[in-house]
Amino acid sequence: MPSQDPTNASAGLLLIISGPSGVGKTTITHHVEKRLNGIFSVSMTTRPMTAADKDGYDYVFVDEETFKAAAKRGDMLEWAEVFGNYYGTPRRPVDLALAAGRLVILEIDVAGAEQVKANLPQSLAVFVLPPSEEELLSRLRRRNREGEAVIQRRFAKAKTEIARAKASGVYDHFITNDTLEHAIEEAVSLVAARLHAEKD
Ligand code: 5GP
Repeated sequence: MPSQDPTNASAGLLLIISGPSGVGKTTITHHVEKRLNGIFSVSMTTRPMTAADKDGYDYVFVDEETFKAAAKRGDMLEWAEVFGNYYGTPRRPVDLALAAGRLVILEIDVAGAEQVKANLPQSLAVFVLPPSEEELLSRLRRRNREGEAVIQRRFAKAKTEIARAKASGVYDHFITNDTLEHAIEEAVSLVAARLHAEKD
């Protein structure tokens, strides 16, 4: 695969964005995608579709049998189980876009990022942090999506995810989302810097 050869000038850049739920990573991801003409990799998932999701745009929603068959065939660049559901990155669209020299963006969890970095160490991995634990908890509450028990579960998972991300050694940058504008600018400029460095 061309993207595995860091000396191949035509290979694109694979960008991984991770962060706990409620931290604003999806908004940041979509700004980076638009500003830098990136391609968002649409994941496959077995989680139930919600009213907020568009099938084929946010995710490709499949049943467990379809997901497991795809993983078994080796069609996933990475996959993980998150909150009891499977999530994975279809490999082929990523390979094609990278070979065409494009910026490809994966919004995936820490377990997925570890797998991608192990295979493609030249990918760029960014983790979005909340300004503080207290602020993350109030953001989860302000979303008004879930009851307190679910919020507490997501909050506990977020703290574990942050600790795992820091210990993993996988992330090249940690961005603190104190204000969305600042976090977007920081993400865009560090990805732009890497894209320019690769052209030189
Ligand atoms: P949600 O269901 O809230 O959209 O996503 C839950 C979690 O799954 C998020 O942390 C998200 O980053 C992660 N996720 C989404 N797609 C993928 C994927 O393809 N692979 C992995 N490993 N994680 C994913």
